[in-house]
Amino acid sequence: MRKLVALLLVLCAPAIGGAAELPIVDAHVHYSHDAWTVVPPKEAAALLRKAGVVRALVSSSDDDGTQQLLAEAPDIVVPELRPYRRRGELSTWVRDDTVITYLEERLKKYRYVAIGEFHLYGADAELPVPRQMVALAKQHNLMLHAHSDADAIERLFKLDPGARILWAHAGFESPARVREMLAKHKNLWADLAFRSEHGSGGKVAAEWRPVFLEFPDRFMVGTDTFVPERWHFVPEHAAWSRAWLADLPADVAERIAWKNGVALFGTALGKRP
Ligand SMILES: [Zn+2]
Repeated sequence: MRKLVALLLVLCAPAIGGAAELPIVDAHVHYSHDAWTVVPPKEAAALLRKAGVVRALVSSSDDDGTQQLLAEAPDIVVPELRPYRRRGELSTWVRDDTVITYLEERLKKYRYVAIGEFHLYGADAELPVPRQMVALAKQHNLMLHAHSDADAIERLFKLDPGARILWAHAGFESPARVREMLAKHKNLWADLAFRSEHGSGGKVAAEWRPVFLEFPDRFMVGTDTFVPERWHFVPEHAAWSRAWLADLPADVAERIAWKNGVALFGTALGKRP
């Protein structure tokens, strides 16, 4: 597996590594129903390209947004399936059986690398709907992208010890807690979307630096375009990320900026154009 990942990185290097700026894999992008008219697919794809984003893990409510953007930028968009059809389902989906039917229908029709991003806290992880979602992810060999507290992450790993989980926003947990969780679960990765205290003003925060150095393979950056207006922030977020990443050793910065994302899901759907 390691050899395969190394080979893939070498193969991707001429296309990606040749850029003057550090390429970015954005692990937290949404393109939901209310974004399509504000930022049409062509414009959204152009914003990703302008930002130097070489891969973006995209999910949307409903999934049509992801499919539209995938059609526009198949070289960039890495599709993930969100269990929401409309804005506002993030607090109701855990008790809504129709979510499972919806996921099954989409999984029959399209290919994905992950299910998420979903919001799930504490003991709710053991309700029937999240349980069935975890079973579907296992069956289809998909990652789980969880906006969750550490408690729900633990419960997800109990439901499927072989799960691969991308922890959205690193759970908004402290660096000490994130470190503890990464040390405990080798199949846990974290995106740093919608938080800024780890790298403000082009400097890596003192409490975060040892965590990035200890787990350079487990972090990714992300914009979190949870409202349409955030799309215009994509290039700025990439520039902001490059600034704080420059305060880390170059090999660690490259991994967090793009290599981890490519290794994890950059080629998951097979050969890309
Ligand atoms: Zn999100």
